[in-house]
Amino acid sequence: MVDIVWFRRDLRLGDNGALAAADQDVVPLFVLDPVLLTSAGGVRRERLLASLRSLDSSIRESGGAGLLIRRGDPVDVLPAVAGEVGADRVLVSGDYSPFGLRRDRRVAEALSVAEVAMASRDTPYLHPPATVRKGDGGPFSVFTPYWRVWSGLSVPAPVQSSPRFVTRLPPDDLPSDAPSRHPPSDDRSLGDGAVGEAAALATLTGFADSGAAARYDDDRNRLDLPGTSQLGAALHFGEIHPRTVLAHVGADTAFVRQMCWRDFYADVLYRRPDAAWHNVDRRFDALPWRDDRSQFDTWCAGRTGYPVVDAGMRQLAQSGWMHNRARMIVASFLTKDLLLPWQWGARWFLDHLVDGDVASNSLGWQWCAGTGMDPSPYYRIFNPVLQGERFDPDGAYVRRWVPELAHLPGRAAHTPWDQPTGYDHGYPRRMVDHARARDDALDAYRAVKAARERATT
Ligand SMILES: Cc1cc2nc3c(=O)[nH]c(=O)nc-3n(C[C@H](O)[C@H](O)[C@H](O)COP(=O)(O)OP(=O)(O)OC[C@H]3O[C@@H](n4cnc5c(N)ncnc54)[C@H](O)[C@@H]3O)c2cc1C
Repeated sequence: MVDIVWFRRDLRLGDNGALAAADQDVVPLFVLDPVLLTSAGGVRRERLLASLRSLDSSIRESGGAGLLIRRGDPVDVLPAVAGEVGADRVLVSGDYSPFGLRRDRRVAEALSVAEVAMASRDTPYLHPPATVRKGDGGPFSVFTPYWRVWSGLSVPAPVQSSPRFVTRLPPDDLPSDAPSRHPPSDDRSLGDGAVGEAAALATLTGFADSGAAARYDDDRNRLDLPGTSQLGAALHFGEIHPRTVLAHVGADTAFVRQMCWRDFYADVLYRRPDAAWHNVDRRFDALPWRDDRSQFDTWCAGRTGYPVVDAGMRQLAQSGWMHNRARMIVASFLTKDLLLPWQWGARWFLDHLVDGDVASNSLGWQWCAGTGMDPSPYYRIFNPVLQGERFDPDGAYVRRWVPELAHLPGRAAHTPWDQPTGYDHGYPRRMVDHARARDDALDAYRAVKAARERATT
């Protein structure tokens, strides 16, 4: 008989628990689900296709016939392929997103009708949802105690496997926009690295060996330095597993604490699937968000008149990635300075980020908006000028992404309104006065808080 390994968010051969569990001939399958393809932004779709091409090549290099790609609803595709190849088992790495959980339940049911088992043998996480628990078995709502327990658990080691891929595949029905059998040589790389498992390992090794991992705690907030790993997209698509990452950087670093947020947010979303698009703390539903599409468009275009906000938004538009500090700054600006709904920003991010991930994104946004599980306190409103001056002290980040300010030296790039030539090259004036916007936001949040307190007394 045959095992189907159904790849989803584990697009790699190494350290792959689903592959390691296969003990028969393996048919490697990926299903291009039109629902997923239309919901992922263009940059993520492109990255997915490039990653599939890379996986296809790796399978061929290890003696297999390549990756079988089918388009359609997995509920129909999986039983059909199982019938074609004579498989009695489908092995997967668990997908914990609300969409993935619903889909997998439906697929398992459809397979069981055809007497094919579906077994989950790995997850994209170090410690998957529902496994890090308080002493009484309950879930954590606050990150720090979650981290304390998480970091005390034994670190899982990378998994070895040597799958026997089948050397003949049924003819596939490759759609025109599916990964080609022969990767084009002008493959556009996204972000700073090429795509796929080997590229992810090279990025990781560079991060660990260059000393960047050791300096992470000092540099990770610096917008002008390459202080972070840039592994977000590789982790999202599973081109690398966090087990492999930890094996390289060690378990005892500030970097690993940051990676723990990924598991924490997946855990939160697992038990609160509504948190993808609704306030975790529903009392904040009373916040008087504005409905100003034109202000939103200005924010999206990176033309707010606040240099560090605009640099972040333009970095996203041009590269498909944004520095974490910039994500926090632009999110604070959207939700607090403009009082626009965090969901608008979260949608924009998901459509444009190459590492867009519903758990980390929506809960990251809710952290900034103050509506989430263990959020930043509502009164913490980033001052975009001070943030810029602190985390981009010489203005290099602003000059890189905002050409209209490239002529301003040093930290002057953060305050064009104070420079005689600040607006000479078409940079827009500030869309709001931060001090006044801050007061308005505080009033709005305080009103919700006061109403909450009245309701509970
Ligand atoms: C508003 C907002 C939206 C975000 N949206 C996403 C998203 O869609 N997808 C995403 O992967 N991350 C998201 N993040 C978290 C973080 O910004 C990115 O993970 C990080 O910038 C990716 O760059 P890196 O790989 O160089 O990170 P590094 O600093 O090198 O961190 C290594 C890895 O740890 C994980 N990680 C680090 N910080 C966080 C965090 N705060 N929350 C969750 N995981 C984290 C990521 O997998 C990251 O790749 C968001 C943060 C905010 C504030």
